[in-house]
Amino acid sequence: NPELARAESLIRSIPDYPQPGILFRDITPLLADARALHATTEALVEPFAGSFDVVAGVEARGFILAGAAAITAGVGFVPIRKAGKLPQPAAAVDYALEYGTATIEMHDDLPAGTRILLIDDVLATGGTLAAGRTVIESLGYTVAGISVLFEIEGLGGRDVIGDLHTVFRSS
Ligand code: IMP
Repeated sequence: NPELARAESLIRSIPDYPQPGILFRDITPLLADARALHATTEALVEPFAGSFDVVAGVEARGFILAGAAAITAGVGFVPIRKAGKLPQPAAAVDYALEYGTATIEMHDDLPAGTRILLIDDVLATGGTLAAGRTVIESLGYTVAGISVLFEIEGLGGRDVIGDLHTVFRSS
C-alpha cells in the first residue's frame, strides 16, 4: 500500500528524548498529514471490521488515533485515563513504568460484554496496553483486539501482549 509507505516515512526518530539513550518515535508529522492520518486510521481498524462495538484509547496519544478510528468505524469512543482524571472511575489498574508506577482508570457505562478495540500509538514494553486490557476485562467487557500504529521491536512488548495488530514496526 503506497499510502501506508508514505505515512511510515512521516514517522521521525528523535535520539535522546525524553532521556539519553532513548530513540523516541515521533508520530506528529504523520498526524498532521491528511492522507497519512486517513490511511493509518483505516489500517488500524480494518482487520477488526465488524468484530467490535466501541474503540478505547489510553491517555494521551492513544486518544488521537482511537478517536479517529471510532469515526472511521462508525462506533463510539471510550477513554482510559490516568488516575484522578475521570469523574466516576469504576476500575483502576496499577502498572510499572521504567521509573516508578502509574495507574489507569475507566468508567463502566457500557453494557456487559461490550466488545472493545483497544488502540495506542506506540508499543514499547507493553505495560500500558497490558494494563488497558486488564482494566477493560475487570469491568466485564471483552477485548476484541489490540491495534497499534508503531511497534518498537526488541523491548518485549509483543511477548507481554501476545496477539496484536501493528501497522508499522521498527526493524
Ligand atoms: P509501553 O507501556 O512501554 O509499551 O510504552 C508505551 C506507551 O508509552 C505508549 O502509550 C506510548 O504513547 C508511549 N511511548 C513509548 N515509547 C514511545 C515512543 O518512542 N514514541 C511515542 N510514544 C512512546
